[in-house]
Amino acid sequence: MKKYTGKYKEMAETFRRDGCDEYTVEKFIRQEMEQDEWEKGRGITDIRAVKAWKEIPEDFRELLLHNAFCPKCRGVASFKPGYVLRWDHGMIVIEGYCEKCGEPITRVCD
Ligand SMILES: [Zn+2]
Repeated sequence: MKKYTGKYKEMAETFRRDGCDEYTVEKFIRQEMEQDEWEKGRGITDIRAVKAWKEIPEDFRELLLHNAFCPKCRGVASFKPGYVLRWDHGMIVIEGYCEKCGEPITRVCD
């Protein structure tokens, strides 16, 4: 059983009381943490983008996060944790930094 602190601990306790298994508890809390990370970010994460993002299957989201183009590495790059999501003309745009070299990179989810 994972240990959480603060509001995550309260959430975990509520989920467990409701009879959620540990897998589900962990999944919900991870989602909540991800959302908090975004909100803490640079303040430009768009709630519409977050909603649309959550509708994308998890494995596909992973794929998008590891399939950006880095001009400095001249190839496929992954986002460092702490990326932000923007809503642009009906599409999600991921903005962040290359995990390898730190160059700013973006990825449009079309
Ligand atoms: Zn790079």
